[in-house]
Amino acid sequence: MLSAARFLPSRFGSALLPIRAITSAASTAAKPRQDSDAQPFPPPVTQLSEEEMAFKETVRRFGQDVLRPLVKEMDAQSKLPDNVLKGCFDNGFMGIEIEDKYGGPNGSFFNTVIVVEELAKVDAGLSVIVDVQNTLVAPLVFRLGNEEQKQKYLPKLCTEWVGCFNLSEVGSGSDAFALKTSAKADGNDFIINGSKMWITNSNEANLFIVFANADPSKGYKGITAFLVERGTKGLSVGKKEDKLGIRSSSTCSVHFDNVRVPKSAILGEYGKGYKYAIECLNEGRIGIGAQMVGLAEGCFDQTIPYLQERKQFNTRLIDFQGMQHQIAQAAMEIEAARVLVYNAARLKENGLSAVKQAAMAKLYASQVATKVTSKCVEWLGGVGFTKEFPVEKYYRDCKIGTIYEGTSNIQLNTIAKLVDAEYKK
Ligand SMILES: Cc1cc2nc3c(=O)[nH]c(=O)nc-3n(C[C@H](O)[C@H](O)[C@H](O)COP(=O)(O)OP(=O)(O)OC[C@H]3O[C@@H](n4cnc5c(N)ncnc54)[C@H](O)[C@@H]3O)c2cc1C
Repeated sequence: MLSAARFLPSRFGSALLPIRAITSAASTAAKPRQDSDAQPFPPPVTQLSEEEMAFKETVRRFGQDVLRPLVKEMDAQSKLPDNVLKGCFDNGFMGIEIEDKYGGPNGSFFNTVIVVEELAKVDAGLSVIVDVQNTLVAPLVFRLGNEEQKQKYLPKLCTEWVGCFNLSEVGSGSDAFALKTSAKADGNDFIINGSKMWITNSNEANLFIVFANADPSKGYKGITAFLVERGTKGLSVGKKEDKLGIRSSSTCSVHFDNVRVPKSAILGEYGKGYKYAIECLNEGRIGIGAQMVGLAEGCFDQTIPYLQERKQFNTRLIDFQGMQHQIAQAAMEIEAARVLVYNAARLKENGLSAVKQAAMAKLYASQVATKVTSKCVEWLGGVGFTKEFPVEKYYRDCKIGTIYEGTSNIQLNTIAKLVDAEYKK
């Protein structure tokens, strides 16, 4: 039989502490260390700095005052009002990490997590618009762009231009690098031909980051990223998809019909597009995790007060033990998802590898959002099933978390591959 003590971390020593000693150690540990020469404990992963708390409050107020009154109409009509998008730019929610020398807010990756989570509490559609700008488009330009490209695009991406990330195609979704869009060299130019599918923000976008294969003989190592502006001859955007959820966010096909761009439109190095796409999607998943946490929290926030108020059998719904146990389970799972997302974000902003944690955060947070929103509909009874109450929208919006930026199966594949590699060492 396995002994539990064998698996205890070595700092506990070989003997188990009596329970009283554990209790008193725990109560001492709860206070911050006072002795000056001791290293402070690392902060809790969910602790926000003062600046982060202030930023969160700004986003919360925007969500409540500007966004909340428009959400129903945005969902019903699949539209993004101009003042909402402008508000995101004006409040510094777009291009968060862009440095001040390019006119950006010079924020942190964690600020992106905060804005995506807080907006998703109110509308997951707006949340993904901001997420794509901050985790895919702007980072690719500020990390890979040459000085000329940065000067040209970064100031716009934090003040007025929406960008979009063009990778998926009809025949290449999970198998993203099977893409067929081509970029044929022609003198000092490239000519792009092909079609992209499912492109978030493409209806509003001014800047298109396009992954095209410039040398199919090299397989995925021919994939190159290009910066293409709206209005370039031959670029057209299809009609908006009529979606189950996140309806305020546009999702369209994008077509490239002999789109001629100069060599200087290459973003980063020729033939490295596959690497850039995978690297930023690996990190982008933390944003989708944050979106799912915010969405689950927002749905929970709408539901609990109703359960406190409504009575059946002369008893508040929240006082039935059968309800309490389910509510406690949901609260715990939201908290666990938040810890996974924040931990992945803190790893990333400390320059540490977060590929496995990001995949776990996105996978788990989307599972939690799916479960919690379904439970909330159920807990509300009949009203939960109507559009009079906002909960059914969260239930529809959450499903996308299991699909985009890598489906749940793809996250499981990534996690399993990394576990396998860890144990091969
Ligand atoms: C609303 C929305 C917004 C999007 N935004 C963007 C965007 O901005 N830019 C962009 O480039 N793309 C975007 N996408 C595309 C999205 O990333 C893809 O839909 C996603 O990667 C899945 O690809 P697919 O739809 O082709 O499904 P498929 O790849 O065909 O998958 C279908 C099913 O097969 C499973 N499957 C596939 N391969 C495996 C495997 N190896 N092992 C186990 N199971 C597998 C999947 O898990 C899934 O359940 C968006 C999609 C949607 C719906």
